[in-house]
Amino acid sequence: MELNRMGSTAGQVITCKAAVAWAPKQPFVIEDIQVAPPLASEVRIKITHTSVCHTDVSVWQIKELVHVFPRIFGHEAAGIVESLGESVTDLQAGDHVIPIFQGECGHCSCCRSSKTNLCEEFVVNPAEGLMMTDRKTRFSIRGQPIFHFMGTSTFSEFTVVHHAQVVKVDPSAPLHSICLLGCGVATGVGAVLKTAKVEAESSVAIFGLGAVGLAVSEADKSGWNNYLEFRISLQV
Ligand SMILES: [Zn+2]
Ligand SMILES: [Zn+2]
Repeated sequence: MELNRMGSTAGQVITCKAAVAWAPKQPFVIEDIQVAPPLASEVRIKITHTSVCHTDVSVWQIKELVHVFPRIFGHEAAGIVESLGESVTDLQAGDHVIPIFQGECGHCSCCRSSKTNLCEEFVVNPAEGLMMTDRKTRFSIRGQPIFHFMGTSTFSEFTVVHHAQVVKVDPSAPLHSICLLGCGVATGVGAVLKTAKVEAESSVAIFGLGAVGLAVSEADKSGWNNYLEFRISLQV
């Protein structure tokens, strides 16, 4: 990758590696792709770590979504801001971030409510493959567009995300661990604290101990929430 005179790739098209899914159920192929610069409200991120969530697998298998292939999946990751559009004021190049598929506009009734963060503007839709900003893609390969996934598309060395779908994190947090906060950990902890509202002294059964189940078992630890203590019985 060539650097411009500022020692940065800002404003340039970046060529990098990505795992491209060419068709439903077809194996991913590591390809050299082009990633366009972010528009005014967008952020381009160097993805340092990403993991595979079962939602990636489930949507990859849906043949009815053939119209959004080729596609770059991935929605559970961490990375570093490479460049950003001129209207993004809460981030800067070099920030450590987590892309999130559930964006928050910050001003709709759901974003202002304490009961939900299911934003009315950033609606999660696995069938959507375009950036909401201009209904186009930022990825291409040999001139052909590659569709996005969940607005995050983290199975790429670089991705472009709307700034409402980016969370800045403490740079001392290890990126290889916090990438799991983007989906699995948030899902498990949220199930305990937000959905089930598990109370102290409750007995809880966890079905399955993958990333989500383990996050459920961790939800009472001081780092997540100090007030909650409950007894867990494992049932497998
Ligand atoms: Zn997920
Ligand atoms: Zn909103």
